Amino acid sequence: MPDYRLDTICVQGGYTPGNGEPRQIPIVQSTTFKYDTGEDMGKLFDLEASGYFYTRLQNPTNDYVAAKIAQLEGGTAGMLTSSGQAANFFSLFNLAGCGDHIVASSSIYGGTFNLISVTMARMGIGVTFVSPDCTDEELNAAFRENTKCVFGETIANPALTVLDIEQFAKAAHAHGVPLIIDNTFATPVNCRPIEWGADIVTHSTTKYMDGHGTAVGGAIVDGGRFDWMAHAEKFPGLCTPDESYHGITYAEKFGKEGAFITKCTAQLMRDFGSIQSPQHAFYLNLGLESLHVRMVRHCENGMAVASFLKNHPKVIRVSYCGLPGDRYHARAEKYLPKGSCGVVSFELRGGREAASVFMNSLKLAAIETHVADARTCCLNPAGTTHRQMTDAQLEAAGVPAGLVRMSCGLENADDLIADIAQALEKVK
Ligand SMILES: *Cc1c(COP(=O)(O)O)cnc(C)c1O
Repeated sequence: MPDYRLDTICVQGGYTPGNGEPRQIPIVQSTTFKYDTGEDMGKLFDLEASGYFYTRLQNPTNDYVAAKIAQLEGGTAGMLTSSGQAANFFSLFNLAGCGDHIVASSSIYGGTFNLISVTMARMGIGVTFVSPDCTDEELNAAFRENTKCVFGETIANPALTVLDIEQFAKAAHAHGVPLIIDNTFATPVNCRPIEWGADIVTHSTTKYMDGHGTAVGGAIVDGGRFDWMAHAEKFPGLCTPDESYHGITYAEKFGKEGAFITKCTAQLMRDFGSIQSPQHAFYLNLGLESLHVRMVRHCENGMAVASFLKNHPKVIRVSYCGLPGDRYHARAEKYLPKGSCGVVSFELRGGREAASVFMNSLKLAAIETHVADARTCCLNPAGTTHRQMTDAQLEAAGVPAGLVRMSCGLENADDLIADIAQALEKVK
């Protein structure tokens, strides 16, 4: 596709039908693909030819949608996964194995924190967490000889911290490793991390990209700029022959543009099989077609709700980087000039009890373990995801008992604010 603007890519990227072909991306509902000769198929197994043979590894529907997301992020190659968890696991495990080490921002999604600190630790992969607000010295001190990548989130879920992507990219590159950014909350509509130096971008497409609470999914995009061969000793998986594919060397055969995603598909998707179903990829694409239109409204509603809450006497504090005075406002102005997202968090006076009365009194906003949906929803971590913790532990973790995370949907802002106002009335 020529250099179309982001809005156009949202609608038409990734798939260009030929004469008489379906206008909409076809759902290729087939586990397998037919070949005329065994030799034709053999070439696929040696990665000598590109093509489809089994949907556990690749499917045309997925590839159209992955190509759209890669274009949106300004990358050179992309793939879909069954979930955001799978996308983050694959992106990390494609680089780091037993005996290796990762540097990660401490302000990341709880599921990713668990994945890295517990499950990947059991695989022998170490981690050093650093604050998203660390100094250059603190960040550089986190690296080791065996560090293979750096990981962070553009806007962290749920803390809503904003990462200094340039700072983290610079440190990663100074140590000869790539930066992986989970761009779920910002989406490429509001931030394109590759432009700021990130090498790999991941998504939970379950959130804004789908945007309708329809399909769990994930995506990985390679910016295609990291020079694996220049750091060959660190990345033997990319820079030495893969015996499971007749000795091809990914970085040589597929270059900077294609090595990461090809290896991720050929090895990890083959062996773990966390593929997104073509049906889900189709739903995801419907969401992508309006992503650029929806994000504007999510941000407008987030800003309106945050501004209302900020001035309310029953609210102790509000986190929303779009608000002037927010701790991350300056960073948001740099990395998120068009807006951040629809998620706002705020602390109510009166702790758990106040949060419970407030949420139970809402009529439009639903109580859900979800964010980034067309319908406004909210959650009180102290009463749900962090239920086992005492108030003191919650405070120490930066998740006070009265904290509510609200994901503003696409409804009318005045209706949302009226709903919030009447629910706050009920709080004593
Ligand atoms: C939800 C989320 C994930 C996990 O994605 P799933 O699709 O639920 O597996 C990862 N990162 C971020 C930032 C998320 O919000």
